Amino acid sequence: MANEDKVLEALLKEERTFPPPAYFVEKALVKDTSPYEEAKKDREAFWARQAENLDWFQKWDKVLDTSNAPFFKWFVNGKLNVSYNCIDRHLNSWRRTKAAIIWEGEPGDDRVLTYQDLYREVTKCANVLKELGVRRGDRVTIYLPMIPELPIAMLACARIGAPHSVVFGGFSAESLRDRINDCQAKLVITADGGWRRGGIVPLKKNCDDALAECPSVEKVLVVKRTGQDINFAQGRDYWWHEMMARAPIGCEPEHMDAEDMLYILYTSGTTGKPKGVVHTTGGYLVGVSTTHRMIFDVKDDDIYWCTADIGWVTGHSYIVYGPLANGCTTVMYEGSPDWPERDRFWAIVEKYRVNILYTAPTAIRAFMKWGTEWPARRDLSSLRLLGTVGEPINPEAWMWYYKYIGNERCPIVDTWWQTETGMILISPLPGVTTLKPGSATIPFPGVEAAVVDNTGKDVPLGGGGYLVLKSPWPAMLRTIYGDPDRYVAQYWSRFENMYFTGDGARWDEDGYFWIMGRVDDVINVSGHRLGTMEIESALVDHPAVAEAAVIGKAHEVKGQAVSAFVTLKEGVQGTPQLIDELKAHVVKKIGALARPEDIFFTAELPKTRSGKIMRRLLRDIAEGRVLGDTTTLADPSVVAQIKEQYESQE
Ligand code: ATP
Ligand code: MG
Repeated sequence: MANEDKVLEALLKEERTFPPPAYFVEKALVKDTSPYEEAKKDREAFWARQAENLDWFQKWDKVLDTSNAPFFKWFVNGKLNVSYNCIDRHLNSWRRTKAAIIWEGEPGDDRVLTYQDLYREVTKCANVLKELGVRRGDRVTIYLPMIPELPIAMLACARIGAPHSVVFGGFSAESLRDRINDCQAKLVITADGGWRRGGIVPLKKNCDDALAECPSVEKVLVVKRTGQDINFAQGRDYWWHEMMARAPIGCEPEHMDAEDMLYILYTSGTTGKPKGVVHTTGGYLVGVSTTHRMIFDVKDDDIYWCTADIGWVTGHSYIVYGPLANGCTTVMYEGSPDWPERDRFWAIVEKYRVNILYTAPTAIRAFMKWGTEWPARRDLSSLRLLGTVGEPINPEAWMWYYKYIGNERCPIVDTWWQTETGMILISPLPGVTTLKPGSATIPFPGVEAAVVDNTGKDVPLGGGGYLVLKSPWPAMLRTIYGDPDRYVAQYWSRFENMYFTGDGARWDEDGYFWIMGRVDDVINVSGHRLGTMEIESALVDHPAVAEAAVIGKAHEVKGQAVSAFVTLKEGVQGTPQLIDELKAHVVKKIGALARPEDIFFTAELPKTRSGKIMRRLLRDIAEGRVLGDTTTLADPSVVAQIKEQYESQE
């Protein structure tokens, strides 16, 4: 009998474990469980101690104010400035001449900015913003490629107290327009273009198209990057380099309240229309700097590279704000991982002797598909720690990353978090936690995550259900911009006094968390509720498979049947025999219940621009519906193609 309370069943068993290597523990910043114990004893005191690592103009009166929950406040009445914390405070030490940002452009040009350089550029840019009429509280939309001007612009906004809204450079004019209008930006910062696979992304053109319908925008600041001819509107458009050449160095940082808005950022839109997530100043910086330091074990001589685009929250928190607040050297790369060759990431690791690498499962699965010869060409011996974020990582992808990139020497931190959470919430500490491939392991100290059933009760260890957070954390979103009701409805209404993540998870006997996919994607076969992750992982476990997306397709008898979309490794043929073999493989790995009813081979899977698989569109295809919202798709032609092929096979 189907048990209504049973939210998710766990099928796949992963037995491999990886304790922290001795060489790593010896030098690790955190070597024992004391932060967990401290936080358990007194969560607020733990976060207050972390907050002491930042520079405050005025100390807070109260760590956490819950009086208007779920509109929580952290570090009440504390005053600080994020750009001051990311730059100025490092100038009084030897870090003044340390590389803050190492940047590499796609064509192969590079640039290193020390903390002193960053101070000069950011304060000049802050003065430019003021000259263009931006005042504290005004919103600035930033639509730039991955060039140093992007973090410079963000930090300049933070310096004068103007919240920024960074829109990923891969978004279209329409997406840009909607995001500008949603936050009513006064200024847009863009570039003539950006480099992508040797071609030019026409950012200024997109921006001009968007601005035809953005009445709030008064001025546009344009960085020259690609140099082609562009339209330039007299009185509205200003060149970055001309304005910067005239601007004075030095700009007093605004004393911001801990709860003043730092930025707005839209979610990836994997499940539907993106939400304008609001992050504030004090708690956010405490959260991202603490997690960055402890999870990435950051030391002063490390070269750290997060491969995300700054247009996503990962780039905000773990390329810009966390690393710079910690005085770390952060690497930034403008382009594509397969340009000019498929070893570009490994060439960058080799060139800068990168020590810590943070990337996404979607990238790792692409590397697996391309083959091991690409990383094998390069010297990756500088690496000592690897990280992943964005989606559940299939255990086989984890093992590949561990073996071929980390040379079985580097721990992997699988970090679970969201745009809304601002900071990593579930992750190993690499010098402490024993790793299990495919598990994000346990909540960060001071974070209270749980797996609950329909009624909000904890499921027993070993069981699956809804992933929730039971207490507030410093970098949490404060609201959805302009829509506090949606904030309450979306996150705080499913369960009483708990934040609902939208993700399904199970916790095992050791209390380790296994994210099993989106709750919206859960498959119900004859009353058994299955997460997408485990079946996909069983498919990816087969040597022919590079990537898989599994959905529940309406079925007369079973309610839903498992339907799989599979991408094969290069050179492998998708034959009917292989279909049978893959079905048998799933049955062997996890049981007959999970046996795919049909398997469909496809060259690509539909993904968001941040690289996440969009299963809801596959469901629409399989069930013959009109496609849902596709505006956040990276490549709309992929889904059109799958639809056409799928329908011709039916
Ligand atoms: P939207 O909310 O608009 O649908 P989104 O959820 O894709 O977009 P993000 O905030 O970028 O937007 O993604 C957060 C989600 O990514 C998490 O809820 C989770 O589903 C997934 N995720 C992130 N990191 C991990 C991880 N380490 N393991 C498993 N899942 C992860
Ligand atoms: Mg989400």
